[in-house]
Amino acid sequence: MINFRFLLLILGAAFIFLSCSEGEEDRLNFKEQGREVPEFNADSAYHFIERQLDFGPRNPNSKGHQQAKEYLLNTLQQYAGARYVYAQNFTAKGYDGDTLSLSNIIASFNPQSSDRIMLCAHWDTRPRADKDSVNQDKPILGADDGASGVAVLLEFARLFKENPPPIGVDIVLFDGEDYGKEGELSKYFLGSRYWANNPPVAGYSPRFSILLDMVGGQNARFPKEGYSMQFAPALVNEVWAIADEKGFDELFIPEIGNKISDDHVVINRILGIPSIDIIRHNSSSTNSQFAPYWHTHNDNLSIISKNTLNGVGETVLELIYNRVNVSD
Ligand SMILES: [Zn+2]
Repeated sequence: MINFRFLLLILGAAFIFLSCSEGEEDRLNFKEQGREVPEFNADSAYHFIERQLDFGPRNPNSKGHQQAKEYLLNTLQQYAGARYVYAQNFTAKGYDGDTLSLSNIIASFNPQSSDRIMLCAHWDTRPRADKDSVNQDKPILGADDGASGVAVLLEFARLFKENPPPIGVDIVLFDGEDYGKEGELSKYFLGSRYWANNPPVAGYSPRFSILLDMVGGQNARFPKEGYSMQFAPALVNEVWAIADEKGFDELFIPEIGNKISDDHVVINRILGIPSIDIIRHNSSSTNSQFAPYWHTHNDNLSIISKNTLNGVGETVLELIYNRVNVSD
């Protein structure tokens, strides 16, 4: 009996393994497509950071949060059409017994296609500057930590309108990513967790998902993040190969980085969508994990680099338009 159960266990594990690897092959199949790729405009992306920072900190329940939500909805409606933009509103418990009003913001391009990919970032900013030496209890502006990923995706949205992508693309802006106090993971990733447990479209199953987090800083380095390599190595390697071909190898460095808990881990674990994180972090040999301005008041416009935004934008656009294997 015990042996039989053991056999079933092994067979079950083998089946899961086989179906996973087969799925990954189908979904993460890349080949040059000979398609034209629209030009990423780093000035425009930079402007989308400025616009977000105009609202001040965008931490949950703040005035800036409410204003930024309206701005993001309006901007995406302009590019995707009002019918294809959706705010997924929900609440979560805050630290002071307060109720946080949160929203994931979703926009769909090429909505008729059942063959889809997903791009995401977090639009909220941190309610505290715990890594600063002053004003630790004040919310941060989050130019890189928050606004940069959103800005690259807004620039994509602008381009998607002019140049419909060859595959369906969903942009998902998560709320409440950076709310938690250090070490309290249950208060992080509020938006992605809610979204993954309550997918707006039942059975939603894009080929893959790419998360952009802290993708606009000066002197940025993106090693291959550890969980991404675990969940979707083929996608990581394709993105880094494109960056190398385009001369962005000093940005996308061919090193394995640390494992960073972020929204992509939630998506991988709850929905099984192969998901990677392009995130600024240091390789495992350094003591500090992130940029010197991380979770401080120095995370403002002065540390933003158009070159970094451009490297990320051009690389991901090449993947979407010219490498994802879709027949016309
Ligand atoms: Zn953060």
